[in-house]
Order: sequence, then structure tokens, then C-alpha cells
Amino acid sequence: MKDKVAQLTALRKQLLLQMPDLSTVLPGSLLSRMVRCNKPGCRFCEKGKGKGHGPIWILSVSLGNRQVRQIPIPSELKEEVEQSLRAFAQLQKVLKQIAQVNLELLKERKRQRP
Ligand SMILES: [Zn+2]
Repeated sequence: MKDKVAQLTALRKQLLLQMPDLSTVLPGSLLSRMVRCNKPGCRFCEKGKGKGHGPIWILSVSLGNRQVRQIPIPSELKEEVEQSLRAFAQLQKVLKQIAQVNLELLKERKRQRP
């Protein structure tokens, strides 16, 4: 069995390989919404029948202090935004794991001190 420090170091190397492309990350979450145009006689917006127009896509970003910014996303950018949101989630997940490994490494190195 390998030394624990070597094991943890190898694990950290694996985790680093799972880091997404940091240049693409976007915060927030993507929501969809139907919208009503309120034009009289619009069959999409008819009361009780129509579902409205859409869906339109909205990137909802928390700014802290209970403030949220909602940014409409054109459909041609939706896929790219989704990828960027996944990259952000992946980054956070891997970052936490690396920090945890480093914590274990610190403990192990303390234990191995002469
Ligand atoms: Zn309408």
C-alpha cells in the first residue's frame, strides 16, 4: 500500500484534470418562462386557453443581499450559457474536493513530522 501522502497527491492530480475551462464559467441558473403579449385576440394569450409565447430563457443571478438579476438569453445563446453554468458547477465541486484533499494532506504531513 502506497504512502498516504502519495495517494492524496495522486488523487489531487486526478481532480485537477477534472477542472473545467475557467474562461467559460457563468454564475446563476437558467429559467424558462412563457410570456403574454396582451394583444387583443392573440390566440396564444387567450384567457384560460392560451399558454402565452415562448418559452423565453432567463439567466437568474443572485447578487447577494436578496438581490437577483434576471438576464434574458436569446435562444441561440442558450446552449452556450448552459455549458457555462455546468462549468461553474463543476468548478465548485472540484474546488471543494481539492480543498478537502489538501486538508487531509496537511493532517498527514503533520502526523509524519519527525
Ligand atoms: Zn400573445
